[in-house]
Formats: sequence, C-alpha cells, structure tokens
Amino acid sequence: MKTAVYPGSFDPITCGHLDILKRGNEMFDQIKVVLFTNTSKKPLFTIEERMDMIRQSVTDLANIEVDCYEGLVVDYMKKYNHRFLLRGLRSISDFESEFQMASMNKKMYPEVESVFLMTSHEHAYVSSSLIREIIRFNGSVQGMVPEYVHQKLVEKIKGMNR
Ligand code: ADP
Repeated sequence: MKTAVYPGSFDPITCGHLDILKRGNEMFDQIKVVLFTNTSKKPLFTIEERMDMIRQSVTDLANIEVDCYEGLVVDYMKKYNHRFLLRGLRSISDFESEFQMASMNKKMYPEVESVFLMTSHEHAYVSSSLIREIIRFNGSVQGMVPEYVHQKLVEKIKGMNR
C-alpha cells in the first residue's frame, strides 16, 4: 500500500491544497494530510479549527486521513514507516525552499522520497497567507477556499472585530 504524507500548516486549507490532494489521490493508495503545528508562523486558526476545516473539505475524497503532529516531518514519517512526502509547487521561490527542505529531509531520513505536483494554473496565486490578508480587509476569497472554510473565515473575522 503506497501512502503519501501531505504536510502543511493549512491555515486555512485552500482550493490549491485540495487540488494537490485530488491529483495525489490518483497516484497513491492513501494520503495522510498532516497538520504540523511547530512552525514559526502565528496561526489565525487553532489546531482544532484547522483539522475540522480539512476534514470537512475532504468528505468527497476516498482514502484521505487527517492527522496532526508537533515535530519534524521526517520523525512523523519514520514513526509510521511512510516514505512518500507530497508537496505542491507554485513558483520559483517555492522551488528554492522546497528543494532545500527535500534535501534536508533526505539527509535526515534517506528512505524519504519527496514528490512534487505543479500547481494547476487556476490556483497558482492562491496561498493561505494571502487568503488571511484579504479576509482581514473584508475582501472576497470566494472560489479560492471551500465554502465551509469561507464561512469559518467570515465568522473568525467577525469575532476578531467584535
Ligand atoms: P507550509 O507552511 O508547510 O508551506 P502550507 O499549508 O502553506 O504549509 O502548504 C502546504 C503545501 O501545499 C506546500 O507544499 C505548498 O507549496 C502547497 N500549496 C499551497 N498552496 C498551493 C497552491 N495554490 N497550489 C499548489 N500547491 C500549494
């Protein structure tokens, strides 16, 4: 059984993430979407909120598991004996940081195989950080995130402005 780990901060999950997941789903028997909580980024959503949004966004996809982990991606992968690490690429700058990370992961865990899927052009400009920025200033992010996530973003901003 070929399992891929798709790690990220998913703050929040976007249509770009989902596109990578759907396409990855055709290549692997199972994908584990793993929310990593140890980034230096200050998240807008809590771990529970992000996990919930991921779960609600993948209900129509088979063979997707959702998990979270505090620690290194390679440690998670070693723990469950997974070899394939799925990531998406949008730009040259993504390539540079992903190349560095893939090399570092290989050094720490030689069995790891990083697999990259190029973004679909309609999602090339979508990033969680831009979504957060736009919503903060009441811009529309409709079509860039699943409808459930859109509602959660609107609620979150209303709560922050109260
Ligand atoms: P991280 O903090 O690890 O970069 P993200 O949640 O921002 O976590 O992204 C997780 C993965 O999804 C990364 O490989 C990123 O390049 C990819 N990704 C994010 N947005 C898109 C998109 N619009 N198209 C393709 N891949 C994407």
